[in-house]
Amino acid sequence: MNIKINSNFKNIKETYLFSEIASRVRKYQEENPEKKLIRLGIGDVTLPLPPVVVEAMNKAAHEMGRQETFRGYPPESGHEFLKKAIADHYTVDLKLSEIFVSDGAKSDIGNLVDILGSNEIIIPDPVYPVYVDSNLMNGNKISYISGNSDNGFLPMPDQIKNRTAAVIYLCSPNNPTGAAYDKAQLTKWVEYALGTGSLIIYDSAYEAFITDEDLPHSIYEIEGAKECAIEVCSFSKFAGFTGTRCGWTVVPEDLKADDGTSLNKMWFRRQSTKFNGVSYPVQCAAEAALSREGIRQCMENIAYYQENADMIAAVLKEKGIYYTGGKNSPYIWLKCPGGMDSWAFFDHLLNDAQIVGTPGEGFGEAGEGYFRITAFGTHENTKEACDRLRNLL
Ligand code: PLP
Repeated sequence: MNIKINSNFKNIKETYLFSEIASRVRKYQEENPEKKLIRLGIGDVTLPLPPVVVEAMNKAAHEMGRQETFRGYPPESGHEFLKKAIADHYTVDLKLSEIFVSDGAKSDIGNLVDILGSNEIIIPDPVYPVYVDSNLMNGNKISYISGNSDNGFLPMPDQIKNRTAAVIYLCSPNNPTGAAYDKAQLTKWVEYALGTGSLIIYDSAYEAFITDEDLPHSIYEIEGAKECAIEVCSFSKFAGFTGTRCGWTVVPEDLKADDGTSLNKMWFRRQSTKFNGVSYPVQCAAEAALSREGIRQCMENIAYYQENADMIAAVLKEKGIYYTGGKNSPYIWLKCPGGMDSWAFFDHLLNDAQIVGTPGEGFGEAGEGYFRITAFGTHENTKEACDRLRNLL
């Protein structure tokens, strides 16, 4: 062929993290078939969908099978019933025209670069890799602000050297560190964005894990955020929709680019051109998750994961090992003991305790020397892993 490719793809690092983990685990199991491995590396939910969600999906599927209730294409930005349920879920006022339902947060995060031009991009390190890769695919230059034990893995605007307009990605509660911004910290970010004319893309995919009452669930709880922030959220971790697929993005009407263009109008144009909406049964299921009973059932599942996180955090506390998360998050981010690097600690846990976690280095350079353990396992396995960790560390 004589076609040219988007050569920016050459700047993306191979995602060797999970394949390297799989290959080391496979080798260990082949050599030690009698050993029982406990997997605490998974970033996916494991509990089944709540019953009210399944019921709503079933009912909608039956509606689709009858002439009188059959529906064709959904509205590109979501059915009004779901947008209303999402708006009602917020403690701040949002217009339905500011809410865009999608097949998940990952797609929206990856697609938002379509409506933005060539801007400075600021991304925390370590963080969910999609922010970095989607900007590299568009040829954007990225500046990193590092998380570390001094800032509790919550990078702040005073770390930014070039104080000009930028697109800033924030993830709170954070994947992989589990750290979450409080209101005062988030206020500093909003003030910084308003002062420099920056845009914050705020990923709140894990907001449902927040239990501390003083932590914001949405950036719009901060005054002025509607003039400087887009928020991306998901049903994946809140309602167990990782395999069902539904999320949403809020693009406030007050967001205007340097030439006065409305980002809300641009995102609507982008979505209605390249996206045909989320299936009706899935939107009904998502609406059910946001009903009073739905929230109760979803929070029961989250409480189950949180008990796992508490068990793991208790071991680290006992052993005096520095960690973030474990609270307000399904992730526990710990400093590898004895100055080990991330992969050395991975091998140590695998070989000496048969526990699989995720080396922090896979989430960015600042993750070197750290390690992610997740709370998405069963109680039984997590308890056994904690016993093994107690003996090992
Ligand atoms: N944002 C963060 C921080 C995540 O960790 C994930 C998935 O793990 C996503 C977004 C993706 O969410 P979704 O399943 O809605 O695409």
